[in-house]
Amino acid sequence: MWLGENHCIFSLCTLCLCGKMNESSKVLTMASNDDRPTDETVGFDTLAVRAGYERTNEGEHSEAIFTTSSYVYESAAQAAARFSGDEPGNIYSRFTNPTVNAFERRLAVLEGGERCVATASGMGAILTTCLGTLKAGDHMVSSRAIFGSTVVLFDNILTRFDIKTTFVPQTDLQAWQQAIRPQTKILFLETPSNPVTEIADITALAELAHANDCLLVVDNAFCTPALQRPLALGADLVIHSATKYLDGQGRCIGGAVVGCEERVGGDIYGIVRTGGTSMSPFNAWVFLKGLETLRIRMEAHCRAAQQLAEWLEAQPAVLCVNYPGLKSHPQHALAAQQQTGFGGVLSFAVKGGQAGAWRLIDSTRLVSITANLGDTKTTITHPASTTHGRVDAAARIDAGITDGLVRISVGLEDIADIKADLLRGLRLL
Ligand SMILES: *Cc1c(COP(=O)(O)O)cnc(C)c1O
Repeated sequence: MWLGENHCIFSLCTLCLCGKMNESSKVLTMASNDDRPTDETVGFDTLAVRAGYERTNEGEHSEAIFTTSSYVYESAAQAAARFSGDEPGNIYSRFTNPTVNAFERRLAVLEGGERCVATASGMGAILTTCLGTLKAGDHMVSSRAIFGSTVVLFDNILTRFDIKTTFVPQTDLQAWQQAIRPQTKILFLETPSNPVTEIADITALAELAHANDCLLVVDNAFCTPALQRPLALGADLVIHSATKYLDGQGRCIGGAVVGCEERVGGDIYGIVRTGGTSMSPFNAWVFLKGLETLRIRMEAHCRAAQQLAEWLEAQPAVLCVNYPGLKSHPQHALAAQQQTGFGGVLSFAVKGGQAGAWRLIDSTRLVSITANLGDTKTTITHPASTTHGRVDAAARIDAGITDGLVRISVGLEDIADIKADLLRGLRLL
């Protein structure tokens, strides 16, 4: 058995996010599998460390990696029963793999979902979700402030299969409402958005989606379940790029979809199994171990980002700072209500437009100039010329991605060293 068979863990996770860990300590002394507590008696941190794994007969303490493409049967009859579905069990690692399944069960429990399906990448998770829930003629409404490759997928690829998307401003509820058509099946968003950290009201958009027979799909890569649990707020499906904070150390590419058994275990898993968007067992193992330290890492990222955001706001060369944890953020109150932490990503505009931003970036010696985020290492990027370089200039400025904007994903280094690294360039502006 694994902790997590029972899906109803909202209350205990809420408890845990407040730092109260009553009852969970007894799990740490449990010896036998038979007396294991159910997930109703333990907190988020305990589930993050222990949920989802079935120990093998070898008695290994750390989770094993099953690097096998196929599985053997005791007889021809057993093989036939496995293939027909009469007998549960492994057939081929594109369908099921014990290490991948352990990651899926652990992430499902942390998100408060019945079922998780792991995918080869975050984009693989979004593609798989679209293929599993849409057909030609269907329509989506999406926030315009979503990951660049997601825009390309919706706008350039799915359109070839007659699936159309209307993009709307993240925080304009009326624009969402007006964009819904009879063919609309999905409302899609990311919150906080990248790079300007706009917050979408998940509860309000879930109500709008359900009133129109649509699914609300939330890409939760920026917050992770340690800071935000969209399913508890009414969302139907949660998407992850595990590449980001779930790994947290910049090693592997992976993704996941979480939601109810019927939808995720049905058509969405069907696409993974047949379409081959499956996760590799080695990557699943890295993410499984990443989940064990997720909450304490996220707490440290949030603390450092808050300090850096407040410090940046006081710098004369900085025109404005986007971070939901700042009182100056237009949706600070909504973020405080919807999230248990404000995240590790912030952006800010400097004097001097692109020249100023590039000068600041080129003056750094410690932080990494790279577009990746959610790493222990702090990263710095100029969205207008990299991640958002292909977006039409007028649309980009309209979305707040000005030429002077710089994005930072705050890592786990000493915050004083990150400030000193940035101060060198800020003094030149
Ligand atoms: C990185 C990212 C993706 C895509 O994930 P990959 O693992 O790179 O395919 C999707 N959404 C968000 C919010 C991301 O940051």
